[in-house]
Amino acid sequence: MKNFDVAVIGAGPGGYIAAIRAAQLGLNTVCIDEFKSPEGKPSLGGACLNVGCIPSKALLESSENYERVLHKFSDHGIRADNVSLDVPAMLARKDKIVEQFTGGIGLLFKKNKVASMYGHGRLTGGGEFFQIEVSENDSSETITARNVVIATGSAPRQISGVNIDNVRVCDNVGALSFAEVPARLGVIGAGVIGLEMGSVWKRLGSSVTILEALPTFLGAADESVAKEAWRIFTKSIGLDIRLGSKIGAVKAGKKTVSVEFEHEGSLTKMEFDRLVVAVGRVPNTTNLGLESVGVKVDERGFIEVDDRNRTATPNIYAIGDVVRGPMLAHKSSEEGVTVAETIAGQYGQVNLEHIPWVIYTSPEIAWVGRTEQQLKEDGVKYRSGQFPFIVSGRARALGETAGFVKMLADAESDRILGVHILGPFASELISEAVVAMEFGATAEDIARIVHAHPSLSEAMHEAALGVGKRFLSL
Ligand code: FAD
Ligand code: AMP
Repeated sequence: MKNFDVAVIGAGPGGYIAAIRAAQLGLNTVCIDEFKSPEGKPSLGGACLNVGCIPSKALLESSENYERVLHKFSDHGIRADNVSLDVPAMLARKDKIVEQFTGGIGLLFKKNKVASMYGHGRLTGGGEFFQIEVSENDSSETITARNVVIATGSAPRQISGVNIDNVRVCDNVGALSFAEVPARLGVIGAGVIGLEMGSVWKRLGSSVTILEALPTFLGAADESVAKEAWRIFTKSIGLDIRLGSKIGAVKAGKKTVSVEFEHEGSLTKMEFDRLVVAVGRVPNTTNLGLESVGVKVDERGFIEVDDRNRTATPNIYAIGDVVRGPMLAHKSSEEGVTVAETIAGQYGQVNLEHIPWVIYTSPEIAWVGRTEQQLKEDGVKYRSGQFPFIVSGRARALGETAGFVKMLADAESDRILGVHILGPFASELISEAVVAMEFGATAEDIARIVHAHPSLSEAMHEAALGVGKRFLSL
């Protein structure tokens, strides 16, 4: 029987990073994964590389380019006549990017001497060593390991009575692979995935209706960001978002799918060519044999861990989408590093307070730390500085002037408590705020740092100046 220092179950951004780091630290490591590509081949990288972050960003970029050619190039004096869309080529580009990255994980495993096993991993018992059965179809092999890292990720949440066939009614997998642009696209759920997927197909020509159960829009974001994003998404971009919708019968036919829903007191029925169900994700913690080693899950199926990702069973760790905290790839990866270093006798911990959140809509939304409504609820006295991109020279040159940077700082200490961005490259700009907050910076620190001109980062500088009521460009 093969024996390892560390067995990682799951090769998503949490698991593959944990395995690589553990091997780098001299631990004999195996990573077990069961994901298969649409062609039926084992494909490392988890949801993120195969059917999440990477393919969705590839399509976002393609659809934004299409929109630029159609609607934005003329402002630059660039004329493009007879523009046409080749959806299969767009999908092929996305698939190639996915293939390069998933293949790259195999190479990284080889380089770092991580053993890779294909199949479903299930714990069958413990002691000094844990036993893990790895099965594929009818064959199975049992390995043992002194330490186990559970990194099995998440799967799309289902709505009862709605059957996902990934043809007419899709989850994220189908939504990333429509062979042609659906004329009418329905999306259930106005969360991160629903908004990103809705935006892609809207830009490519679909009329998009998003049905959201909650009465508020983007409840996790800062209210001022959510309010402005709502205005842009519904008025300028033309997404038809219906908040407070209660979904009823969903019936898929050969060519269309009908959705009944209650909205503002009346029952409505709409026909779509495709429907995307994006109502959140649930942790993959069933059929893992957790009970055989005494690992507990909470009432929502998440594995219970402490602040260093240790379960109550010594030497079993859990990271990423299967544990508390935001379901984000970078959070999973950093937890992977944390557990590998902890197993190797070093110290690791992820600060969940400073995880950057990003929604890759256009304009992008990104934030770190607390929102203004949270500070009010917690009775924290704060000062705020908000700078609009319309005043930024770089944003003007880009032709992307919507949105703003908003900084919130403690009224007494001036420490930065939260930064909220709606605007171009918000995903890149937010890093400055994350670094500043991790170093316990004040708004004045950012206000005194030199920012390149003309750059979008000047908006962060001005927001910081604004906290002290001393804008220089507003
Ligand atoms: P996963 O990536 O889910 O990987 C888990 C792996 O474990 C999978 O390969 C699975 O097949 C395997 N597995 C499960 N059970 C077993 C078992 N018993 N045995 C063997 N293998 C098993 N996050 C971002 O940060 N940025 C984004 O832009 C972003 N975009 C997204 C877009 C979409 C459409 C989706 C769906 C998600 C997106 N996410 C994004 C979220 C991100 O994909 C997840 O947070 C991330 O993949 C979680 O990583 P993980 O390693 O915890 O799990
Ligand atoms: P996220 O967690 O960012 O992927 O977002 C999921 C979104 O789907 C959230 O805004 C939820 O409120 C929403 N949602 C969850 N269940 C339903 C449902 N049955 N109908 C419509 N929206 C839903």
